[in-house]
Amino acid sequence: TQPKLPQPTEPVEVSQLAKDFNQLLAAQNGRLERERQFISDASHELRTPIATIRGNVKLIERRGDKHPEVIPESLGFIDQESLRMQHLIENLLHLSRADRAEVALQPLDLSALVRGVVDHYQPLVAQHVTFQGTDHPTMTLGDPDMLHQILVALLDNAHKYSPEDQQINLTVVATATTATLTVADFGPGIAAADREHIFERFYRVDASRSNKIEGSGLGLAIVAQLVQLNQGAIAVTDNDPHGSCFTVTLNRATNS
Ligand code: ADP
Repeated sequence: TQPKLPQPTEPVEVSQLAKDFNQLLAAQNGRLERERQFISDASHELRTPIATIRGNVKLIERRGDKHPEVIPESLGFIDQESLRMQHLIENLLHLSRADRAEVALQPLDLSALVRGVVDHYQPLVAQHVTFQGTDHPTMTLGDPDMLHQILVALLDNAHKYSPEDQQINLTVVATATTATLTVADFGPGIAAADREHIFERFYRVDASRSNKIEGSGLGLAIVAQLVQLNQGAIAVTDNDPHGSCFTVTLNRATNS
């Protein structure tokens, strides 16, 4: 007798396979394109400080002998730009580490964590920070170091983009399933058109470029990545009557 060929339990849809394959290819191409863009943006950002440093070294070489008065200013530029490069590289390392990070989330008291961060924040800024937490512990699932880094980055921005000595208000509120941290400032706010982009790597609102406020546009991209690793969500809205309000929502720890 003829051996019976095994019958596939489900008919193989060739067109479905082709569709899946094309989808996979498109996703892969999208990822490659994003990585290419990232490397090109990072190189561009590093090129500017390097050019300034080299220009000032050349200036000292050519004119330093006869005009020693140019030296202190040029050294100042070199110092400032190398510091900028150092920050940028640190941020790039943060991003690539966070890309690979695996986190074991643990129960922690979010209100206590926020209080601890404010207590150790730059004292001259911290005196303008208010915090309204919950009376009882707000047990939340998260990674304490990452949540610390998220809050410091949001505080740094609130301070950096607001007029000197402006108030910054922090709150923690909780429901049965979520704990929400808000960081609200009274700075210039963020226009609706920019809001959807500010979590992208290297995105800066034009005003912060033209006002020459230090930054690389990586801070919020890192924050968004850390929030995601904490299985949370981040959003930005207008503050009342003006300014920005960043909201980080996390999961409550169960049995708390
Ligand atoms: P950086 O501060 O290094 O430019 P970020 O990723 O932290 O980068 O922020 C991206 C952009 O979002 C900033 O350049 C700024 O234009 C805008 N931004 C961030 N935080 C605030 C804020 N609190 N108020 C107003 N604008 C802000």
